[in-house]
Amino acid sequence: MAEGHAALVTGAASGIGRAVAARLAQDGFGVLSVDLHPDPDGPGTPHEADLTDAGANEAAVAAALDRFGRLDVIVAGAGIQHVAPIQDFPIERWQTILALMLTSPFLLARHGWSALGESGAGRFIAIASAHGLVASPYKAAYVSAKHGVIGLVRTLALEGAEAGITATAVCPGYVRTPLVEAQIPDQARAHGISEDQALEEVILAPHAIKELIEPSEVADVVAFLAGPAGRSFTGVPVTMDMGWTAR
Ligand code: NAD
Repeated sequence: MAEGHAALVTGAASGIGRAVAARLAQDGFGVLSVDLHPDPDGPGTPHEADLTDAGANEAAVAAALDRFGRLDVIVAGAGIQHVAPIQDFPIERWQTILALMLTSPFLLARHGWSALGESGAGRFIAIASAHGLVASPYKAAYVSAKHGVIGLVRTLALEGAEAGITATAVCPGYVRTPLVEAQIPDQARAHGISEDQALEEVILAPHAIKELIEPSEVADVVAFLAGPAGRSFTGVPVTMDMGWTAR
């Protein structure tokens, strides 16, 4: 279906980004797998970039065009978390999180825009979060960046419509990735409970369904949005959050 088409995926060395890169490669896309620590044995062509650096975003788009001669899909997935109350929140962490999770998606869209237009069915897909729609305490930078990226895709959807470009923000609840799994023993210790209890009662507390989402399930949704059936999804959060935001 996507034979001959090309995708650029950020955060592709781990978790959701890795699953997305693998799925798009399986669907026939040429994939540039961009990460701070690229995995030479991972899916796609590895490309090293610190996406908090503006020039690295432009270079990543140039590398995809150089490698594949076209760019049909951009998936902005790289992300990090920092948990601290607002009065202690390190200002430098705020700036890094905003640079990685809001400015990098903007720069990838900006530099990839004409190639997405030439595609005829360009797709810009941000991996946002349920935290793009609702907040949790102590996650000021993450929640702000995720809300911001939903504003970005709404704007891109309006600007890209005529050129056939769609823009969406996938909003998962908690996904089984290193970013989440690392929190389980910490929460168990902090609350003096077992790891199973920490997962169900603390981490999954906002989910109506008390289960983690698998990275491959997020990749399935991205693959759908990237394909022909995704063409009417634009300017919207695509929520897959186990009932979190139903409250
Ligand atoms: P992860 O930690 O498994 O992977 C994140 C990747 O981003 C890593 O490979 C890391 O090297 C890369 N990265 C970090 N800083 C970078 C930088 N400066 N430049 C380039 N790459 C950098 O995380 P994940 O859980 O797969 O999260 C992926 C995305 O999904 C993030 O945007 C995250 O906010 C979002 N998300 C995750 C969950 C979840 O529960 N895991 C839920 C909703 C949304």
